[in-house]
Amino acid sequence: MDLDFIKEGTILFIGAHPDDIELGCGGLLHKLKQKNRIFVITLSKNQKNPKNQNLVSEQKKCLKILGIPEKNILVADFITREFSYSRQEVCDYLTEIKKKLSPTTVFIVPNDLHQDHQVVNSEARRVFRTQNLLEYYIPRSTVYPTFSVFVKLNKENINAKIKALSMYKTYKNKNYFSKEVINSLSVVNGLRYDLGLSECFTPISIFLN
Ligand SMILES: [Zn+2]
Repeated sequence: MDLDFIKEGTILFIGAHPDDIELGCGGLLHKLKQKNRIFVITLSKNQKNPKNQNLVSEQKKCLKILGIPEKNILVADFITREFSYSRQEVCDYLTEIKKKLSPTTVFIVPNDLHQDHQVVNSEARRVFRTQNLLEYYIPRSTVYPTFSVFVKLNKENINAKIKALSMYKTYKNKNYFSKEVINSLSVVNGLRYDLGLSECFTPISIFLN
């Protein structure tokens, strides 16, 4: 394993909505799946819009391709775009998750343009401040990326990410779900450090033993 800062143990991925984690970390999930105990937590089912009714089942199909079994997928019931009215409940929910799963490393949604992402990011920073903590990166909602952790991926990882995201039929017309965009981003992410293909992360706290 070349992600040395990730200790053995449970790794937790936290998203606000179905698709956040897969867009930001699909390649990394596929890369890690063989060796680590991974849980994926999404705080909203994003059901306010009736067109989104299949999102929860689409997310399960997507995550299955990335190697995450259904028993390791948790989806809460916070209402999309209304997280700011439930800050304490979000904090309480994440605190319960921390007690239950005792993760060693946590990947969280970034503090970007989306109002729900901002709430989850700040509450997760409070709750998981004693864990290795990193933000992933969602290009669609990020204006000024600040990443400085780069995970080298291979073609197989990116192809799995593309196939997995194609399970979101609800979003089939969104260009950032297209094969071309996902592949191009991974090339651009890897360009600066000659990594080939990559996903990028921003470290909040990393503990080296
Ligand atoms: Zn989101």
